[in-house]
Amino acid sequence: MHELAVTQSLLDLAVKHAKEANSQRITDLYLVIGELSSFVDDAVQFYWDFLVQGTLAEGSKLHIRRIVAELQCLNCESRFPFNMEAFACPECESTRLKVAAGEEFFLEAIEVE
Ligand SMILES: [Zn+2]
Repeated sequence: MHELAVTQSLLDLAVKHAKEANSQRITDLYLVIGELSSFVDDAVQFYWDFLVQGTLAEGSKLHIRRIVAELQCLNCESRFPFNMEAFACPECESTRLKVAAGEEFFLEAIEVE
């Protein structure tokens, strides 16, 4: 359950930003989670609701934006959706691929009062 530690550090980061902005309350937190990252939305939400109690973020709303996974061909550089069944470039059929999107996990923005 690494979501607990990660959610705690997100909260710490959000509270730090809020304090720097001299705000009293965090109202919204925008999180980006890539499809391929191992983070589970529900778990993050669960820990968030638990951890924010008694902090500047108590009562805040967590918004989670999912990033669709994409691969990029190292041969012709085209990008295409991640597909476990066809693990090759649709343009040139190369299997030299890298993950271009989908591994994200970061705090995009916070809204404060
Ligand atoms: Zn290609």
